[in-house]
Amino acid sequence: MRTQVGIIGAGPAGLLLSRLLTLQGIDTVVLENRSREYVEARIRAGILEQHTVDTLVAAGVGDRLRREGLEHSGIHLQYPGTRHTLDFPALCGRSVWVYGQTEVTKDLISAQLDGGPPLLFEVSDVTTEDVDTESPRIRFTDGDGVAQVLECDAIAGTDGFHGVSRPVVQAAGGRVWERTYPYAWLGILADAAPATDELIYAWHPEGFALYSMRSPKVSRLYLQVDPSEKIEDWSDDRIWDKLATRFALDGWEINTGPVTDKSIVPMRSFVSAPMRRGRLFLAGDAAHIVPPTGAKGLNLAVADVTLLATALVRLLSERWTDLVDSYSDRALARVWRCTHFSWWMTSMLHTSGDDFDAELQLSQLRRVCSSEAAARELAENYTGLPLDA
Ligand SMILES: Cc1cc2nc3c(=O)[nH]c(=O)nc-3n(C[C@H](O)[C@H](O)[C@H](O)COP(=O)(O)OP(=O)(O)OC[C@H]3O[C@@H](n4cnc5c(N)ncnc54)[C@H](O)[C@@H]3O)c2cc1C
Repeated sequence: MRTQVGIIGAGPAGLLLSRLLTLQGIDTVVLENRSREYVEARIRAGILEQHTVDTLVAAGVGDRLRREGLEHSGIHLQYPGTRHTLDFPALCGRSVWVYGQTEVTKDLISAQLDGGPPLLFEVSDVTTEDVDTESPRIRFTDGDGVAQVLECDAIAGTDGFHGVSRPVVQAAGGRVWERTYPYAWLGILADAAPATDELIYAWHPEGFALYSMRSPKVSRLYLQVDPSEKIEDWSDDRIWDKLATRFALDGWEINTGPVTDKSIVPMRSFVSAPMRRGRLFLAGDAAHIVPPTGAKGLNLAVADVTLLATALVRLLSERWTDLVDSYSDRALARVWRCTHFSWWMTSMLHTSGDDFDAELQLSQLRRVCSSEAAARELAENYTGLPLDA
């Protein structure tokens, strides 16, 4: 088999990269080790920055997003006795959209399978070779158990945090930075109409809680819990009870309903540099992880592949290496901005049990709720800075 760009991983990064390259006349093959059903059902992110929406629409995969996505013009910040609204368009002229990662993935997969380049599910034993040359290749076993070789001009490692690509880049020298936070998020998906117009980020002495939504009938809610907690110990009643406590506000009540999914996710910041070795390029969670508090993971993956697609088109169509040479530095500049913002939101909202920390957090929250400059800084970062900011 031969292609111009071999793409490892069919998450949002790999699928969108394939789409953007196809639109520019570049051949791709996408290799995914899970089944289509598994990939489409994986519940993860749900907030899209304006840049992400614009990119998906321009790539011709935004019809359902525009029909079913919910445009949101702000968030509520809450601490006991106060629920304050940040109006994003007034603060920075941009908004965000609620549209689940599951839906983004379904739209990209259906566009790819509808006459797009090959997308192979359930492959295994994926390895890369000769990435320091201009003719790298990927070896893998296809879904029928047959060993295959994919000859490429370039390889994109969009295989997430546990993929095979990052170790290949790091083996040639590099550096990683990591911070593991002492808390996790217990997330539920519930068939319950959201009781709020905007997402609520709530600080509470017991711990953080986030009220978000996926549609006018489906809510997505999170509780800060200890990372050692087991999901089996959290009955639906216990979860609703804690949520009601942490979101408590006079004259307002949470809407409950059947819980259709629940899980506990650890929280970590992780950055791996560089994002390139020879003709192997990393993008998305393969190179970096942020805690979900800033809603940046999926948006960063989209920003990476937007830069990478342009760079690969320039390399493969025009034979110019300038954009692939600057790709890692340009992507990492944005990665660190988002890493800082995600760390800052996490630090402001998650309680540690320490009284001094709690007073600092409340002071910061009061500042964001009372100063237009402080609110604007949050709004600009949350809604997404320009690609090269
Ligand atoms: C459990 C969880 C919950 C999250 N919740 C949120 C959230 O609430 N809000 C938020 O903003 N962000 C959240 N995120 C982050 C966000 O979902 C990610 O940043 C986003 O999925 C990144 O996309 P990606 O394509 O880079 O990686 P991924 O979505 O991880 O895709 C990588 C793909 O590569 C495949 N793969 C891996 N190894 C191989 C291999 N060897 N061969 C072939 N294929 C391979 C994987 O199966 C996967 O399909 C969450 C992440 C996780 C893991």
